[in-house]
Amino acid sequence: MAVIAGNWKMHMDPAETRRFFDELSLEGPAGDQELLIFPPSISLVAAAEAAGRDARVQLGVQNIHWEDRGAFTGEISAPMAATAGASFVLIGHSERRHVFGETDEEVARKVDAARRHDLVPVVCVGETLDERKAGRVEEVVLRQLDAVLPSLASGEARFLIAYEPVWAIGTGETATPDDASAAHRTLRRRLGEAGGGGLADEVAILYGGSVKPDNAAELLSAEGVDGVLVGGASLDPVSFAAIARWQAVDTHSGLSDV
Ligand code: PEP
Repeated sequence: MAVIAGNWKMHMDPAETRRFFDELSLEGPAGDQELLIFPPSISLVAAAEAAGRDARVQLGVQNIHWEDRGAFTGEISAPMAATAGASFVLIGHSERRHVFGETDEEVARKVDAARRHDLVPVVCVGETLDERKAGRVEEVVLRQLDAVLPSLASGEARFLIAYEPVWAIGTGETATPDDASAAHRTLRRRLGEAGGGGLADEVAILYGGSVKPDNAAELLSAEGVDGVLVGGASLDPVSFAAIARWQAVDTHSGLSDV
């Protein structure tokens, strides 16, 4: 079973959110995947009401503050998100890191907050184009992972990692399946070093960056890719459902094996 997650970013008001769920049709293999949607927090209640009719879709928020309450104008906290219907939270998305200047330390504090309130963190890591060109992919993704591993690896609670190369997000460029597999291998190796085989085997590592219905199967078939985090293509219920209905391809021959 793969994880198919949709990050709506700053799209989809409450009315658009209700419409999305009205139009979402998940027959066939789509029902076998774990489906997550991350609406803007203002649309979370509308999504919870609409998705409540369809237990196959779980919800998350795109960001939280590390404190539970207080004078933090414009922020939302983990307990608020949980009360409003979220079970998951994206933490350290590249737009948070690179547009809003979120640091590794802040990402780690948010992971702690998520754990305190039983939200499943989906921690995003990934290199910029300059870092890739400089051969620094491993160094960057391991630094980002190491910042959160002490918190993540303590205890039994579930967490996910999303490898999202910054240069592939919203650009139409995707990592090749081999590039994705290489980064996932690096991350999984570190999970194994931190928490033994159990952690390396159990933690789902998603790929994100311009995933669309026409490239999802190839990326989802890549070694070590346990799911996808989808931005733009998750806004349309037809393309989100098409990605959720992916079928494995033989990456050598390019032929579907089912
Ligand atoms: C994202 O927002 O995490 C993302 C991968 O966006 P897109 O699919 O649009 O590149």
